[in-house]
Amino acid sequence: MSTPNTPDSNNSDSLYAKREKIYPRQVHGIFAQLRMLGVISLMGFFYGTPWLQWDGRQAVLFDLPGRQFHILGITFWPQDFFYLAVLLILAALALFFFTALAGRLWCGFACPQTVWTEVFLWIERKVEGGRPQQIKLDKTDLKHKWLKKTTKHTIWLVLSLFTGITFVGFFTPIHELWVNFFTFSLGPWENFWVYFYAFATYGNAGWMREQVCIYMCPYARFQSAMIDADTFIIAYDEKRGDPRGSRKKNEDHREKGLGDCIDCSICVQVCPTGIDIRDGLQYECIGCAACIDACDDVMKKMDYPSGLIRYTTQNALEGKLIHLLRPRTIIYASILMITTIMLIASISTRIPLEVDIIRDRNALYRETDEGLIENVYILKVINMDNIKHTYDMRISGIKDIKVGDNISTITVNSGEISSLPLRLQVDPANLTKRSSKVFFTLSAQDAPEIRLEQDGRFLGPRTR
Ligand code: SF4
Ligand code: SF4
Repeated sequence: MSTPNTPDSNNSDSLYAKREKIYPRQVHGIFAQLRMLGVISLMGFFYGTPWLQWDGRQAVLFDLPGRQFHILGITFWPQDFFYLAVLLILAALALFFFTALAGRLWCGFACPQTVWTEVFLWIERKVEGGRPQQIKLDKTDLKHKWLKKTTKHTIWLVLSLFTGITFVGFFTPIHELWVNFFTFSLGPWENFWVYFYAFATYGNAGWMREQVCIYMCPYARFQSAMIDADTFIIAYDEKRGDPRGSRKKNEDHREKGLGDCIDCSICVQVCPTGIDIRDGLQYECIGCAACIDACDDVMKKMDYPSGLIRYTTQNALEGKLIHLLRPRTIIYASILMITTIMLIASISTRIPLEVDIIRDRNALYRETDEGLIENVYILKVINMDNIKHTYDMRISGIKDIKVGDNISTITVNSGEISSLPLRLQVDPANLTKRSSKVFFTLSAQDAPEIRLEQDGRFLGPRTR
């Protein structure tokens, strides 16, 4: 893999190469359209989701102070951390699978860095013009460019701030957030995160761009471990393109000993990371396919077949067969499928009720005036549903076990925890062991499917 195209990359005296600004040329074509589709849908999803309502509250809200994650009709609690862990594993597996199959699809079409950079580039082109105008503008002095530069940065900053507020809107109700923002009454943490994300968006998409992908993103570094000779990558067909050289249209370039590459460098000019794909597979390549569109356009103008730069595999370039089904894709796909099915099954059968039984540790047991053996417990009931429930309580496991004060139900509001002190009493004649298992069964009166059984220990005197 080669180093980025910087003028100092061959300078052995210096380990530091100053960044050369990249002016990616605008590109049209099928992959540009697909990327635009990705940008519009992901932006729409990001900016639109916090505004969706579900049963009178924000449909997606990660309420960290309340320790509840609301996703559509389901509320997840810290006890449901397992689901988050499985989701993260699924995301990692999906990344492995798609990388093994088709390289950096994620980077080129769905990564937030690509998506926001694409929007920032679009704004830049609208304000400053295309690549040649931008290069020319940057060479002029400040008095000729300040208006365009100020306009561009103002729009970037407004969009960044909007992004920061929207991001925080996933964690704080967004309606209140906007009101608080305009009335300057955001809390200290809200203020911090709004401006932090605004600053990160402005810095990453406006200024750093390809440097985030090349120097900061760890995925670029370890992706080579996930791909093999059958992975689809974006590659230049050297056998067909070389030797490169300029020629006139309709001229028989084969007679001149030339390949199909006319050496126009358009594929380099459109590259957002500034590399030349003709140098081979490079870790700086984010797989955006802009060079495919650009080169296909050139091929069309020259009346050559398209696909000099294309999605292909290293094996295919060497004339070998492509193997889509191979051990690593089969293993990733199987684990991905099994984990997804298990996650869906687990969420759909999830019971929104949690019961903790805490034994009184001050006394093992006590004897009542009636000669019964009594154990004291605290029952912690967490209603993780979106509505209030009254639960019927049933105690079993020991013959004729009684609940003191005749408590048989407990009512808990949605999203709340209720603690109920409970005295269980047993005739010593019914105790066969010093420590017996006792079962607490709670079932919601209005939803019998919400039913949970927990066990605990009932301690008594030594038995003979
Ligand atoms: S765009 Fe195509 S023809 Fe032009 S330099 Fe790149 S590979 Fe060669
Ligand atoms: S080499 Fe092609 S696919 Fe790779 S980043 Fe540059 S333009 Fe995108």
